[in-house]
This record gives sequence, C-alpha cells and structure tokens, in this order.
Amino acid sequence: HAKKEGRNNAQFFMQALNDAACERLLLERQLRKALANEEFVLYYQPQVDADSGRIVGLEALIRWQSPELGFVPPVSFIPFAEESGQIMLIDEWVVHAVCRQIAAWRAQGITPPRVAVNLSGCHFLKKSLVEMVAECLQNFGLEGRHLEVELTEGVIMRDVEQATATLADLKRMGVTVSIDDFGTGYSSLSYLRRFPIDTLKIDRSFITGVTKDADGAAITTAIISMATSMRLDIVAEGVETAEQMTFLLDHGCAVMQGYLFCRPAPPEEVTRLLVDGLPMP
Ligand code: C2E
Ligand code: MG
Ligand code: MG
Ligand code: MG
Repeated sequence: HAKKEGRNNAQFFMQALNDAACERLLLERQLRKALANEEFVLYYQPQVDADSGRIVGLEALIRWQSPELGFVPPVSFIPFAEESGQIMLIDEWVVHAVCRQIAAWRAQGITPPRVAVNLSGCHFLKKSLVEMVAECLQNFGLEGRHLEVELTEGVIMRDVEQATATLADLKRMGVTVSIDDFGTGYSSLSYLRRFPIDTLKIDRSFITGVTKDADGAAITTAIISMATSMRLDIVAEGVETAEQMTFLLDHGCAVMQGYLFCRPAPPEEVTRLLVDGLPMP
C-alpha cells in the first residue's frame, strides 16, 4: 500500500521537477517547510551478521512525509536538494536526529550498534562537516564510535585533498567511514590505499547478479577478496534471497543488509528488534 502510494507521488514529483521554474521554487519552498515542520523521519535498516544473526549496524534512511505530496522517497528529492543547496541543512538534520535516537536508545538501557548516515558530496567537502558532526555527538553525550559516515566514491574523488583531511579528522574522532555503492563509481582503486576507509558496501546491482550472471559473481568475489586482503570490512547491500546469502557466506562476506533480513523500519520497530533480536530467514 505504502509502496504504491510512494510510486504515485514519485510520478507526481518527477512531473513537478520537469515543469517550469516556478515549480522548482515551489519544491524548494516545500523542502524548507519540511525542515521547519519536521516532516522528515528516519527509518533504520539493520546490517546483519548472517553467521550469528546479530544486528551489527544500522543505516539511517530519510523519509519525507509531506502533507501536500504524501510519501516522497529520497531518490525523488535528495538530488534536487543537492542542486538547490538545501542538502546541507537536511544532512545536518539527519546527523542530529540520528544522535538524538542513539541517545534515546541508550537512555532506555539499549546498546544500539553503530549507526551509519548517508552524507552528500557538497556537504562532505565543506570543512564545517567535521565540526557539525562533533557538535551533534557532544550535544547528546556520544562518542565517535557510535557513528559511521557513508560516502560514495565520486564524493571522495571530487576533491582528494579536502577528502583526505576530512576523513582523517573523522577518524581521529572515532567515526568510521564506509564507501557506499562500491563498484559503481568511476574512480581508480588506488584511492583505497590512500584514504582511511573502514568498510566497503558492495552495491546491490552486483549482489542481484551473484546467482544469475557470471559477471555479478566475479565482481562480488573480487571485491570481497580485495577488501579482505586490505583488512577492510565488507557489507553486502540489497540481499534479497537465501541463494544470495549462501553465496556471500561461502565467499567470505558475512555482513549483509537487505529485504531478506529486514526492510528499513521506523524507530519503534527497530527498538523491538534491538531488544528481541531479528528472526532469521
Ligand atoms: P543507499 O544509501 O545506497 O541506501 C540503500 C537503499 O536500498 C535504500 O533505499 C534501501 O531502502 C534500499 N534497500 C535496502 N535493502 C534492499 C533490498 O534488499 N532490495 C532493494 N531493492 N532495495 C533495498 P532508500 O531508502 O530509498 O534510499 C535511496 C538512496 O537515497 C540511498 O541509497 C542514499 O543514497 C539516499 N539517501 C537515503 N537517505 C539519505 C539521507 O539521510 N541523506 C542523504 N544525503 N541521502 C540519503
Ligand atoms: Mg547508504
Ligand atoms: Mg548503497
Ligand atoms: Mg544506492
């Protein structure tokens, strides 16, 4: 039901994006209002150690519940927010909301695993990012190890010098860094040696292929063996079938994220999962 609604609104939204400049202004205004009125919510998707069934991480994923547009998925507004410059405020809201949630869990006596946030490029290249993250952590009495930052290859390669400095600062704070959608970027692999990266997230497009086509399997296997020999952690994204899970376990990748284990869920549901554990597929 929610999915169908999302698609209809997404269509409406794409139309809006294609319309005249006044539509873009309208959208910009709606996004600004969304921030002011707390129309955004965060869902969380568990990252699971498929060997033990334990939740070893969570990824925060933004949702926009607009009174006018209904449910708007992030792919329909994040790119626009990046263009209009509003992404900085949205990313800041996300980091703040994640820290607030971690603190709330801890206050309830629950020890949540590390929570990953997706950060957009424009923000990452600003020096103020490190200060913003540090401030949010401090506000809620958290340590860097509670937080992970997800970046794409393109973001890091856009300004190598600034990226190096920012990654080093995050590292010093104890914040871990993972490369999202790994394998889909255009960058050379040599940057992996130069940047202090903790985790590679194998893109869903390869995982989808592992039991279907030889290329998907070959690329996935290559990424796993490279990451392992470089002592990087690996997370497989978008694991949907038991066959994919078995392939990954057989090839040395135990940490997985995907609908097979759990869809992104609202905080109340995640609280229950953190307390009771995840039912294994
Ligand atoms: P991503 O960071 O690569 O997130 C993974 C996406 O895959 C999520 O979509 C998630 O719901 C979806 N997914 C997870 N498991 C499965 C699966 O088994 N099958 C399939 N088909 N999909 C799966 P979502 O939440 O719609 O987010 C899409 C993208 O929007 C994210 O990709 C990320 O790039 C961006 N995004 C989401 N939240 C934020 C945010 O708070 N800030 C920023 N800057 N970007 C965000
Ligand atoms: Mg991500
Ligand atoms: Mg991803
Ligand atoms: Mg993605």
